[in-house]
Amino acid sequence: MMPRRKHHLSDATASLTRRQALKLLGSGALLVATGPFVDGCAHVTNQTSRSSRKPSDVTSNVEAFPLAGVRILDGPFLDAQKRDEAYLLKLEPDRMLHNFRVNAGLEPKAPIYGGWESAQTWADIRCHGHTLGHYLSAASMMYASTGHDEMKQRVDYIVGELKVCQDADKTGLVCAFPDKATQIDNLVAGRRAVGVPWYTLHKIFAGLRDAYLFCGNQTARDVLVKLADWAVDVTKGITDEQFQRMLGTEHGGMNEVLADVYTMTDEEKHLALAERFCHQAILKPMSEGRDSLNGLHSNTQIPKIVGFERLYQLTGKPQYHAAAEFFWKTVTGTRSFATGGNGDNEHFFPITDFARHLSSAKTMETCCSHNMLRLTRILFAHDPAAAFGDYYERTLFNAILGSQDPDTGMMTYFQSTKPGYLKLFCTPFDSFWCCTGTGIENHAKYGDSIYFRGRPGGPQRDSLYVNLFIASALNWKEKGITLKQTTSFPETGKTRIEIDAASPQKFALQLRHPAWAATATVSVNGSAATSSQKPGSFIELNRRWKRGDVVEVDMPMNLHTELLPGATDTAAVLYGPLVLVGALGHEVKPGEDLHVNERTIGSVLNVPIDVPTFSGKPSDIGGEIKASGETLAFRTRGIGHPEDVTLIPYYKMAHQHYNMYWKIQST
Ligand SMILES: [Zn+2]
Repeated sequence: MMPRRKHHLSDATASLTRRQALKLLGSGALLVATGPFVDGCAHVTNQTSRSSRKPSDVTSNVEAFPLAGVRILDGPFLDAQKRDEAYLLKLEPDRMLHNFRVNAGLEPKAPIYGGWESAQTWADIRCHGHTLGHYLSAASMMYASTGHDEMKQRVDYIVGELKVCQDADKTGLVCAFPDKATQIDNLVAGRRAVGVPWYTLHKIFAGLRDAYLFCGNQTARDVLVKLADWAVDVTKGITDEQFQRMLGTEHGGMNEVLADVYTMTDEEKHLALAERFCHQAILKPMSEGRDSLNGLHSNTQIPKIVGFERLYQLTGKPQYHAAAEFFWKTVTGTRSFATGGNGDNEHFFPITDFARHLSSAKTMETCCSHNMLRLTRILFAHDPAAAFGDYYERTLFNAILGSQDPDTGMMTYFQSTKPGYLKLFCTPFDSFWCCTGTGIENHAKYGDSIYFRGRPGGPQRDSLYVNLFIASALNWKEKGITLKQTTSFPETGKTRIEIDAASPQKFALQLRHPAWAATATVSVNGSAATSSQKPGSFIELNRRWKRGDVVEVDMPMNLHTELLPGATDTAAVLYGPLVLVGALGHEVKPGEDLHVNERTIGSVLNVPIDVPTFSGKPSDIGGEIKASGETLAFRTRGIGHPEDVTLIPYYKMAHQHYNMYWKIQST
C-alpha cells in the first residue's frame, strides 16, 4: 500500500492476492491431511469433490500441497510462526470489527484500533478495515498450519459478525469505511475519490475466501458471494472505458479474488467482472514484452499480475500468462536487490539508477516481497522450473524471515539499503500498516511452497517436488506417504528426507539443486545415488519408495558477492542464498525500534555511522571472509577499511545498524 495519498490517486494498480491460489488450483488441493495434521476442512473436501464440474485450473502442471498437509518443525521458521500466532491472539476481533458494525447501524462492541484503521493521519487513504481482512486470511492459514482451534474459533466469530453486518446493511456491501460506499460510488461515477477503497475491499474479499478455503467456513463463502454480487451490481452501469479509468486507482488483487469466486459459483458474471478488473494499461505492455514499469507504484502492480496468471489458469488466454511471465522475469532479473525486494519509496525506478537509490531508507517495501512470492508460486505451478524456487528461497530466507522482529514479533515496512541504517518495526496496536497486514500472513504460511506435486491426473502426477529446505513434515494423503525433512539449513548445506509409505510407492522425487551451489550430491540409504553439476535444476530420483528410505542431500555453501545491478564496484555478500550484512553496532533495545508512522522511516534513529569499504576485486571478496566461530557469523580478513567487519545473515539482523552493499575499491 502506498503511504501517501497522492500516490494512491495517481498510480496504476494494485494489491495483493492470496496464497489461496494453491488451494484453488484444483479440488485436490483442498484435501486435508489426517493423523497428526489438522482435519478441520474435511467437509469442504467433500463438497469440493462433489462439485468438481466447477471451473478449474486448466494450465497448471503442479500444485502446492495444501497448507494443512505440512507441518513446520523446529527451526527459525517455526519460531517465526509461533511469534506470529502469539500476536494474532493479542489482537481483538471486536476492535477490528468496530467500524463494520457502525456502518451497519449496530453498536460497536469495543473501541476502534488506531493507525491506518482510524487515525486522522491516514484517513485519506481509506484503508479502514484492511486489517480485519488480512487477519481473516492469517488466522485461517495459521489454523491450517497448526490445527489450533483457537484460530478457527476467531475466524468463525469474525465471519459470523460480518454476516450480521451484511444482513443489517442489506446492500451486500460489508466495509469499515467511515463514509461507507461513498468513495466506491465516486470511483464508479468517474468522480474524484479519496483513497484506495477497492484495495481495502480486496482484503475483505480475500479474508472471506481464505476463511472458506482453509477453515471450511460456509458462511464466509456466502458473505463473499453476496459481496461479489454487490460489486457486480455497483459496476454494471459503466462502460469498459470508464472501468479502465477507475483502475487507475490502486485496487489490490480484485481480478484474482473474483476469479476465485468464479471457481466457487460457476457464474459467468463473476468471471466477467474478474476480467473487467484487469488493468489494460499494464496487461497490454507486459503481454507484449515491454517493460513499462519505471515510476509505477510497485505493490499496486504485483497483485494485478498474480490475477493475470490466475485468470490464465481458468481461461487459458495466453496474454495473461505472457504478461505474468514477462513481469516476473523483468522484476526478479533486473529490478531486485539481493534480498529479493524491489523499489524505492514504493516505486519502480530505472534499472540504471540502483546506485542512486541505494542511499534511501525507503527501499524494498515488505508487501512487494510478499506479493512477488505469491506470483512466483503461481508461475511455478505452470512451469516447475528451479529458477522460481531459487527466487522464492532467496526472498523467503531474507526479505520475509528478516521482516519479523525476533523479540516482539512485529514487522518491517521498508527494508532499507541505506548504508548504516536499521530495521524499524510496526507497533502492535497503533500502526496497522499494509505491511502489518501482509506481515501477519507471511509467518502463518511457511508450509506453503516447500513441497509441490504433479496435478492429479496430469502427466506429472507421480512427481513430488522438494522446493525448499525447511524442517517440516508432509502428509501426501492420496499416496499414503508421509515425508519428514530434517535440516539445519541454512546453517549447513545439508538436508535429510525420510519417507514413510504405507506400502511401497513409485514416484519421482524432484530435489532442487539451487543456483548458489556448484554441486549437489545425493545418497539414498547411505549409498551414493547421484550428483548434479547443474545449479538451478531439479535432480530426479525415480524409484519405488518404501518405509524407512532416507535421502540425504549435500549442497556446499560458499561465500560470494553479487554486484548491485548496473554497478562494478558495489556488491552484497552472500553465503548460499543468505544475504549477509555488516553488524555496525549502535544497538537499540528491543522495543525502541517499534515505530508508529511508516512515513517517517529514515528520519528517526538516524545516527551518523561510518560504514567501512572493502578493497580487492569483487569476485575475490568471498575468499577474504572467514567463519568467526559463531553460527552463521563471519568476519572480513584485512579487506575492510578503516577496519574489518562482522557479517551476519540479514534475517538475523535486528536492533543495531547494518550495511548491505559494500563499496569495493580495487587494489
Ligand atoms: Zn506494505
